[in-house]
Amino acid sequence: MPHDFPQPVDAAEVPRFAGIPSFMRLPIFEDPAQVDIALVGVPWDGGTTNRAGARHGPREVRNQSSLMRKVHHVSRIAPYDLVRVGDLGDAPVNPIDLLDALKRIEGFYRRIHAAGAVPLSVGGDHLVTLPIFRALAAERPIGMVHFDAHSDTNDRYFGDNPYTHGTPFRRAIEEGLLDPRRTVQIGIRGSVYSADDEAFAKECGIRVIHMEEFVALGVEATLAEARRVVGDGPTYVSFDVDVLDPAFAPGTGTPEIGGMTTLQAQHMVRGLQGLNLVGADVVEVSPPFDLGGATALVGATMMFELLCILADALAQRR
Ligand code: MN
Ligand code: MN
Repeated sequence: MPHDFPQPVDAAEVPRFAGIPSFMRLPIFEDPAQVDIALVGVPWDGGTTNRAGARHGPREVRNQSSLMRKVHHVSRIAPYDLVRVGDLGDAPVNPIDLLDALKRIEGFYRRIHAAGAVPLSVGGDHLVTLPIFRALAAERPIGMVHFDAHSDTNDRYFGDNPYTHGTPFRRAIEEGLLDPRRTVQIGIRGSVYSADDEAFAKECGIRVIHMEEFVALGVEATLAEARRVVGDGPTYVSFDVDVLDPAFAPGTGTPEIGGMTTLQAQHMVRGLQGLNLVGADVVEVSPPFDLGGATALVGATMMFELLCILADALAQRR
């Protein structure tokens, strides 16, 4: 077992409430070449159309991530023994200029990608996934398993504005970053702007699994369908916490009732083990709307779930 890999601070030596809260209590790195998986915060919510606050997500998820331990209790994956994982800090952002923020975020991820590290990010609103894709998918389009109450494939807001957290995946498809035929959206629900709201997603071939179909299929059949859609090509996992029922994740900008339980979401992410994963994120944790850190704890725990399948994927590729 490689003992020189970065390890979380030992909770038997320094209690979990002490010290500076990095993601998973891991060391902080500036050079992405020193890690295989880069944990990154993107404290930006300039794409939010209604209830802002996800800019505060990374700091609070770092805080709650101090509760995470080192080994997954079901898969027994021990990510810190498989690969080098570190906290790369926050991507640079600009809270008063959307286009400049997108540029800064993309530049940060280009550096990570060029160093050969795989990013696992915490937003921020869902628009942050677009500049991440611009860095990761510049060479070829990627597939995606997308957990969300919303399709995020709308076109324009407030006149002719193309960039909001309701539009990232339409832009990513237009820019050739995301392959819609290798994209599956799971948990979609809630009232929509018009009856043909999903026309774009359907026309370009995205597999949309509404919450009602997820319930009818169950976890295992939904996983089989998701794995069929993305196949063995490069795949990103994007986890919007509003896929969860607000009973489990109230601290988010666009809550929709009738969502997944945390346990269903955990089973879904675990079931993605073995895919050809190239990155993942947890977005839309909004501490100002949270209750006692509950949603940030969900974010941190889903981040650990994602970290385990990412570390396993990297170890398998070696
Ligand atoms: Mn979203
Ligand atoms: Mn959403």
